[in-house]
Amino acid sequence: MAATTHDAGVLLIYTGGTIGTVRADPRDPLSPLIPGGLDQILASLPGYLPRDKRIISGGRAVRLEAVSLEKPLDSADLGTRDWRELARLIGAHYDDYEGFVILHGTDTLAYTSSCLAFMLENLAKPVVITGSQRPIGETRSDAVQNLVTAIEFAAARTLGHPVIPEVGVLFHHQLFRGCRVRKVNADGYEGFASPNLPPLGRAGGRIEVNRALVRRPPGKSARFAVSMASETDLLVLELFPGIKPAVLRTLFDTPGLKGVVLKTFGAGNAPTDPEFLAAIKYGVREKGLLMVNVTQCLQGEVAQGRYRTSAGLLAAGVVGGLDLTPEAALTKMGLVLGQGFEGRDAADRMQLDLRGEQRASLYNIHFRPVAAETDRPITLRGEDGPLVLERDGDLFQGNAPYKEKHLVQAFLRLLDIETSDGRRGRLDFKVYLNQPDAGEATAEEPPTYLGRVSRPLTGGRDNVILEITRQAEQLIDTGHSPTLTLVPLGGSDLAIQNAHIALMTQD
Ligand code: ASP
Repeated sequence: MAATTHDAGVLLIYTGGTIGTVRADPRDPLSPLIPGGLDQILASLPGYLPRDKRIISGGRAVRLEAVSLEKPLDSADLGTRDWRELARLIGAHYDDYEGFVILHGTDTLAYTSSCLAFMLENLAKPVVITGSQRPIGETRSDAVQNLVTAIEFAAARTLGHPVIPEVGVLFHHQLFRGCRVRKVNADGYEGFASPNLPPLGRAGGRIEVNRALVRRPPGKSARFAVSMASETDLLVLELFPGIKPAVLRTLFDTPGLKGVVLKTFGAGNAPTDPEFLAAIKYGVREKGLLMVNVTQCLQGEVAQGRYRTSAGLLAAGVVGGLDLTPEAALTKMGLVLGQGFEGRDAADRMQLDLRGEQRASLYNIHFRPVAAETDRPITLRGEDGPLVLERDGDLFQGNAPYKEKHLVQAFLRLLDIETSDGRRGRLDFKVYLNQPDAGEATAEEPPTYLGRVSRPLTGGRDNVILEITRQAEQLIDTGHSPTLTLVPLGGSDLAIQNAHIALMTQD
């Protein structure tokens, strides 16, 4: 299947779905729809010249070759094995074509498009997934429009359109980022939406591309690769009012379970019932599950800590999924855990924007008391004087191009705080980056005042979140290992489970 650069063409990969279905009994229009073959799809494609293996589009000929999964399926029957097969096919033919079109059932298309976005690393060519709500052979079908337009986006170079080097989903005249789409209609022709990101392209009389949104192609030295790593022992769990903590515990006890996508209310909220939160903590701390919080809402994002009803999840170690779709959260989790990341590293990795699936990255810089072990609680006692914390783990998770990113917001988070002196708790301390006492300074940088916390503890357990965007600039500028200093001012003695600075960045 070698091709010259002048005639790169498109590879069409057929997986099944409504687009290719036929009536089980061709004489009975009420007989069930079952997957048909690739031949009838090509036979229904206007402008396709089967002998030349070319399709005429926009007055130009595009080489079009087609392959089918061994057994075309309704997408409800597709899964990890098929995602791998699709990634393998694209990997095997990557150099032979200028773009790829995948024909897919609509039901689970958003999972496949999300998963492929993560599996295909340093993608420089368009991979466009499409399907239809009516079979291609039916008179009033949306299939031809979707398929021909998908081919136009995939053959962008030949046809003179801007190339979109991403996994995209083409449906009803719009091209969406694959790891942002959701199926929103079970039968309407506008079957898909990308609620948190405008379309990358539109097809009217002309093809239009929103260049500002399209991801930049990888640099010359970044080689295309296919990652087959995927963890499949995962669960998507949608909360509802009255959900029983015992049910959660039973689910979390499932042998082999590694991760949970938690679909919460609104901006990431959940019950504050101590038993519910104890069950979540059991899942994260005792069962070691990676848990990510995404919203049940179609649009908007999770902001853990904004409401009291999400503070407990943050304290328990649930990762905030920002504006991730559930499909992207699940498949990203599969990749992150499949690549062998564990515990805090997996949680940190989940918060980085890998393929444009979320609007920003969160880099966590963790701290622990000087010379103490990682998972011991941090204690702040009045009589002990200032508590100095040092960085724990890699600065910016070894991400070198960090400096090129734009800092949007930074927070200091002291999580899961308990008073350890038995008195009714009162928080009263000052926080510095580096040490305020110049005489004893060990830090290479001058101290920066981050703020004073002075308030009663509001619950049994509490979080402190300070916005430190302005002060955090120096962390990025110097790249030095910062220390964090807590200076007690006569409040309660405290035990803190987790102290970190979260830097929210965009490209
Ligand atoms: N059940 C079909 C599928 O997902 C629906 C469709 O393609 O529209 O395969």
